Amino acid sequence: MKQIAVLGSTGSIGSQTLEVVRSNDDMHIVSLAASSNVELLEQQILEFQPEMVCVYREDKAKELKERLKTHSMSGVNPEILTGMDGLVACATHRDVTIVVAAVVGMIGIRPVIEAVKAGKDIAFANKETLVTAGHIIMPLVEKYGVNLLPVDSEHAAIFQCLNGEPHGGLNKILLTASGGPFRGKSREELLHVQVEDALRHPNWSMGQKITIDSSTMVNKGLEVIEARWLFDVDFDQIQVVLQPQSVIHSMVEFQDGAVMAQLGTPDMKLPIQYALCYPERRHLVGERLDFWKMKEITFEKPDAETFRGLTLAYDAGRIGGSMPTVFNAANEKAVALFLERKISYLEITQTIEWCMGEHNNIENPSLEDILEIEQDVYKQITLVKN
Ligand code: NDP
Ligand code: MG
Repeated sequence: MKQIAVLGSTGSIGSQTLEVVRSNDDMHIVSLAASSNVELLEQQILEFQPEMVCVYREDKAKELKERLKTHSMSGVNPEILTGMDGLVACATHRDVTIVVAAVVGMIGIRPVIEAVKAGKDIAFANKETLVTAGHIIMPLVEKYGVNLLPVDSEHAAIFQCLNGEPHGGLNKILLTASGGPFRGKSREELLHVQVEDALRHPNWSMGQKITIDSSTMVNKGLEVIEARWLFDVDFDQIQVVLQPQSVIHSMVEFQDGAVMAQLGTPDMKLPIQYALCYPERRHLVGERLDFWKMKEITFEKPDAETFRGLTLAYDAGRIGGSMPTVFNAANEKAVALFLERKISYLEITQTIEWCMGEHNNIENPSLEDILEIEQDVYKQITLVKN
């Protein structure tokens, strides 16, 4: 039996994880965690009957308890926790064997670290965690001998292409990107982008924050840094290639020039199920690629000038230390402000660039440094933008 914790169960990845669990008899949900969506959590609790639940927000946890009282006859009575302690408890519950890390943002750092230390495998979607704390997490993964199985579709693709290949054989990673809704646009054309425009992704249906990140190419930037940690490569070995149809999920080039790619329809349930069942391949209900119907697969070079987010991510990654934390924290705050319509679209990447320029880099930041820098960056932006 696979004993699973889902952190971020009410989100896009979390909900799709539960779809996968629903169709696999040997998967059991031990714990669920979310921030505030208690309506959906209530349904998930009734269906999956977890032993433990974390609602990050205390007021919402109270609300959930009230809601569950109305089902008191059903025998469903999970332990309900809150805050960071609750998240960590869900991630480290003694019965859990694999944690699906699918909260959005740096909030996932502590639960992931504690889960690794408790010997849990991780099905890993929460890229912001590895971007900011990769230098802490990867040595722990090694030390505790756990599997960090990528769920992000590109990294899952690379992972599949590297299956059974010795490490020295890899020459470079070809990280594919759809280019988002604004591919081919100039900076002038992006001046008046509204929230609704940026939330319209051409190929993937995802949470709000990652959808905005995809449109600015910050998502691809985060993925470049994520790949650096997951596959232990230099930034010069990671090349971003636009592939607008999102059919090729990523590729690797080996020393002899051979290129391997993983293709598929844009369905996150594939990488989620693969991570949960690795190394087994199971049937997955869903569309298949039809090469007779598919007209073309095309490639382009990304426009690094218009989409500064990608360039800034390479800069932050190459500088290393605490700079990726600044890149990520500034983006998290700027995207939140854009979604609240408090800053313009182009100000997202301008804010990141400004914060990176203001920062005195710390070479090997501790977890405490990272969390402090995150808060400092938030405060700095709030001061300037309010
Ligand atoms: P969503 O916004 O859809 O979901 C986020 C989830 O995290 C929700 O369940 C939310 O709870 C929960 N959450 C947020 N803050 C907290 C907190 N403080 N404590 C506990 N739970 C919290 O995001 P996605 O599913 O789109 O993305 C999740 C992660 O996966 C991100 O890091 C993203 O980059 C990555 N990813 C996503 C992909 C996708 O297709 N969606 C693809 C590849 C990577 P609530 O609903 O209650 O607010
Ligand atoms: Mg991705």
